[in-house]
Amino acid sequence: MASQYTKLQSIEVEDNLLLPYQVSNPTQKKSQNKFASYFYRVKGYIIKKWKILLLLMFVLLLIAGVILIPVLVLRYKTSTISDQCDEYGKEIINNAVQKGTEAYSRLSTLVTLFPGRLSGSEQLENAIDWIQDMMLDDGFDLVKTDDVEVTHWVRGDESATILQPYHRKMNMLGLGGSIAGNVTAEVIVVSSFDELDTLQDQVKGKIVLFNAIFTNYSSTVQYRSGGASAAAKYGGVAALVRSITPYSLGTPHTGVMFYQDGIDKIPTAAITLEDADLIQNLAILNQTVIVNLYMEAQTMPTNAISRNVMAQINGSTYPDEVVVIGGHTDSWDVAQGAMDDGGGIVVAWEALRLIKSLGIIPKRTIRVVGWTNEENGAAGGAAYAQLYTNETFFSIESDIGVTQPLGFNVMASEQTITDLQLIADKVLSPIKTTSIVEGEVGTDNGFLVSNGKPGAQLITDESKYFWYHHTAGDAMDKMDPSQMNQCVAAMATMALCISNWVGQLN
Ligand SMILES: [Zn+2]
Repeated sequence: MASQYTKLQSIEVEDNLLLPYQVSNPTQKKSQNKFASYFYRVKGYIIKKWKILLLLMFVLLLIAGVILIPVLVLRYKTSTISDQCDEYGKEIINNAVQKGTEAYSRLSTLVTLFPGRLSGSEQLENAIDWIQDMMLDDGFDLVKTDDVEVTHWVRGDESATILQPYHRKMNMLGLGGSIAGNVTAEVIVVSSFDELDTLQDQVKGKIVLFNAIFTNYSSTVQYRSGGASAAAKYGGVAALVRSITPYSLGTPHTGVMFYQDGIDKIPTAAITLEDADLIQNLAILNQTVIVNLYMEAQTMPTNAISRNVMAQINGSTYPDEVVVIGGHTDSWDVAQGAMDDGGGIVVAWEALRLIKSLGIIPKRTIRVVGWTNEENGAAGGAAYAQLYTNETFFSIESDIGVTQPLGFNVMASEQTITDLQLIADKVLSPIKTTSIVEGEVGTDNGFLVSNGKPGAQLITDESKYFWYHHTAGDAMDKMDPSQMNQCVAAMATMALCISNWVGQLN
């Protein structure tokens, strides 16, 4: 009460007025005098605190300026970078995220009907037929396939069994490209190529196990791709590789390997993290480990014919300049290939379909490409670049899973990366896909980038990607429809904004 009295007193002094309801019954005449009382109080307050209020207004204006000016500048800037990117982006994202897309159901159908789409397989060609038929039904401006000659490797029966110090069958997968073999020999364990060099005198006649701990894919994968020839160089008779993954539930991971010219070819396979560590521990316990590796794998004497499949919306202003979006249609034989890379091609395809269904006509042609043979040869990407590099304006591949989208890796000029960052900040922030960093693009559009064209890769949350990569676990149960919708939104928005780019881009 003391403070109220003080306040009243001060108002009294400054205004020469006694506010009646506050000295009589406070509830009486309140409504009639409400306006008058507020008026006088506010007036008094302003007179008394004008300096503070002025400061407050200044601060509010400053805050508004800090928020509004960048928004306006960004809006102005994005419109000078890409025509209507802002408004189309909003429309695309709203539709993809709120109304949803067919990405999940198309992928589910694709991988259910055609799992194990390895190059040379009927499954892959049937999948490409199915995609092409669906693309024709979608009513794109142009749907076509280009023949591509691809390697035809077949797994056949295979096994890896510990025979000594006890009998134990291992989960294994032969590596793509490996020759057949039936080898029984003692195992020598190394954790790196350096250690192999150090122990080279002990390698002859043995099976070399490369038990290198996963750090990241690009540095650890060298043991899968080059382990066999490294072992054979010192007289190794077979090579086993710890699966290229940070995590395992007893799952072996396959993948491509290459033989070096001039070195004997030996059979090679991946085993699980569990079995790799088991063998290593047996060796540490001075146990002699003998393993039988049996593989019927073979590369067929003649290459197979596969196809790149593509569909497009013709550009209204620059139809001869093409923005490419895509993924690869092939997968490893043991996988459904939902994550690698059925999801990638379906998301790119659905992005194009969304743009079309919204009636948006891009200024440049947008083309979705399903590259073939990414997994064991990348002949699809190479063939595409050979035919279409010149007309390529930009390319975006999706091949690290279509989980939560985070942004894009970009190979382009600094200016382009800065401009794409502006666009991402302005348009893609609702789906938090704003990370634009210089970095590796996909294997397939990598050929276009090597030929000097700017390109990008959709970046997603890949924290679990390599858990399933190239395994039987790469299946539909790992896919999330809402995350896929966000990937569609990101891909469609970026493709549209780049197709409406103002001027050239490099
Ligand atoms: Zn892939």
